[in-house]
Amino acid sequence: MPVPCSAKCGKNAVLKRPKTGDTLCKECFFWAFETEIHKTITTGNLFQPGDVVAVAASGGKDSTVLAYVLKLLNRRYNYGLKLLLLSVDEGITGYRDDSLETVKQNRDDYEMPLTILSYKDLYGWTMDEIVKQIGRKNNCTFCGVFRRQALDRGAAMLKVNTVATGHNADDLAETILMNVLRGDIARLQRCTAIVTSGEGTIPRVKPLKYTYEKEIVMYAYFKRLVYFSTECVFAPNAYRGHARTFLKDLEKIRPSVIMDILHSGEKLSIREGTKLPTRGTCTRCGFVSSQPVCKACVLLEGLNSGLPKLGIGKSSKVNRLRNEAVDF
Ligand code: SF4
Repeated sequence: MPVPCSAKCGKNAVLKRPKTGDTLCKECFFWAFETEIHKTITTGNLFQPGDVVAVAASGGKDSTVLAYVLKLLNRRYNYGLKLLLLSVDEGITGYRDDSLETVKQNRDDYEMPLTILSYKDLYGWTMDEIVKQIGRKNNCTFCGVFRRQALDRGAAMLKVNTVATGHNADDLAETILMNVLRGDIARLQRCTAIVTSGEGTIPRVKPLKYTYEKEIVMYAYFKRLVYFSTECVFAPNAYRGHARTFLKDLEKIRPSVIMDILHSGEKLSIREGTKLPTRGTCTRCGFVSSQPVCKACVLLEGLNSGLPKLGIGKSSKVNRLRNEAVDF
């Protein structure tokens, strides 16, 4: 028995929105999905007319939908943005090489210039080589630290005003949960911000902050967008994987759990007088760091000196070296 679209457009519904429970036809879903992202952008004041915006593109569903929707909204609402694609090639055979082909397809489909920066060029190491050195346990630490800095470097090189990332509501809920479980107050405070910036860094914005992952998949499916969905060969990032599974289980009992956690995270405030790390710049590479020497430089030094585990964890030796900013 066909169900009428709850937006009362006269058509039959083809889906039920996970976020609201509304039953909608394709066109009304597209409109609701896009309009919510537009509201996130305008309420958060994410862009200014004339901004050059780099979309951090991995070829996955989030960044593909982000690039597509930003292009569409830029035209529909005259944002006046120049949109570019910025990708990082970690050097992971069987994963990133394939997903970059999807990004190249995005470049052609959405007519956005694409820049690809590789770990090999920036750091002298591919992730394949790093995993050979350190094994499969801490690979995501290296990869995450290097990627964050690679995006900063790419943004500075391209002289963009802003970097837009595809983090969605589910990603944020996972991150909030992980930071609570780790007791990482500094990150907990930062992670819910829709705009993040540090001294000397180009701001990053999250236009999909309130968008459900399931709806991103639905949107990509009904729009027939081309994206890459294979997992990294070096996954899982075990801790995030547990947080994700836990949230998915909770979602079955309470569908609003993602948004509830997100709103709770936004409302948490830190008691006055709590000591938090201050963010400055690395004395070696000049990029953002809360220590005299940034984590990327410490990890790289460890790799180059044949002591790859040196930058992992919080050993007193590493902390001393970082704080003293000595060469090692
Ligand atoms: Fe990098 Fe780990 Fe993600 Fe693979 S799973 S891309 S190694 S952070």
